[in-house]
Amino acid sequence: MILLKDHTSTELSQALIELAPPARLIRMLHAAAVRRGMTELPTEVPEMPRRLLEQIRARVAIPRLTLVNKVVSPEDGFAKYLFRGEGEGQFEAVRIPLLHRPDDKKYVVCVSSQVGCALACAFCATGRMGFQRNLATWEIVDQVTQIQADSEHPVRGVVFMGMGEPMLNYDCVIRAARIFSEPCGMAINAKAITISTVGIVPGIRRFTAEKHPYRLIVSLTSADSDKRKSLLPIERVYPLPDLLAAVRDYHAATRKRVTFAWTVLSGINTSREDARTLAELTSGLPILLDLIDVNDPTGQFKRPSTEEANAFRDYLREELAMPVQRRYSGGQDINGACGMLAATPAPHEGFVTTIVSASDDRTK
Ligand code: SF4
Repeated sequence: MILLKDHTSTELSQALIELAPPARLIRMLHAAAVRRGMTELPTEVPEMPRRLLEQIRARVAIPRLTLVNKVVSPEDGFAKYLFRGEGEGQFEAVRIPLLHRPDDKKYVVCVSSQVGCALACAFCATGRMGFQRNLATWEIVDQVTQIQADSEHPVRGVVFMGMGEPMLNYDCVIRAARIFSEPCGMAINAKAITISTVGIVPGIRRFTAEKHPYRLIVSLTSADSDKRKSLLPIERVYPLPDLLAAVRDYHAATRKRVTFAWTVLSGINTSREDARTLAELTSGLPILLDLIDVNDPTGQFKRPSTEEANAFRDYLREELAMPVQRRYSGGQDINGACGMLAATPAPHEGFVTTIVSASDDRTK
């Protein structure tokens, strides 16, 4: 069977070429399944031959994830969804309300690209799970389809910052991004689709060569190689000089400012020396630095105090002279913030919606 959410509309037309379906029909079916969450192909479509629809129905299926659990934060409205696909393991996606624009109600969805992750970043709950498998394209797409169907406001952005390293599931991630941005897919602006990487150099180079319009974010977290090795073991495979060479080539090819993510770890990467090393490493490269406070339920890594965070921002202003923004990482009370996704087992089978109150056990 051809799985509808596994293909762009062009690929779907190609797969059905011997039936010669009108492009309008393919676009219509694609939009109905991907954007509007249709679960079964229709038996009748105005002006379309019934026999053609029967032939398509015999070849095409609409796959669907099982929603295992949904938790909504009473504190900031972030919602975490736990899904199960066709293969082993469960995975999570987070619906993020745009809190800084209260009159412009829309969501960004943070999707997973793998079940677990092999890269074992020291402060990440997904990394502690180990790697189980790559998600199929449709399993990535259906996270957004189901969240859109469950939401009263539109999804206007997607970030590949959930479970897994997107560049290690490159083909499925890029195909999913295409489906998200297709006018007959989710119709999300390509510039509102962000692909993050912790520094997979071949992936960055391929992304550059293929000239994708999506945003790229590179997790840096330290500009000191030894410190980075202890936090992000991938530094041993793709060390900073190679990573920065790939990032500089990306900038040269796209002329885009490069966004680096910096997980802020109290007492570890917040000194003037850390800011100075970063300035030296990125000298001459226009960058944007996203500061994200660590979320570590194990307590091994601590968030900075306000004084420490402010002092680091001052060091960065003085040493780096590049834009710096502190990202709000919401959903902490539901273990849905950056670094906290660990496919928490569902308390019950089937569809469960849990609203946690401020007094609930946050470790669930
Ligand atoms: S931060 Fe990303 S790359 Fe690192 S272990 Fe977690 S999911 Fe994997």
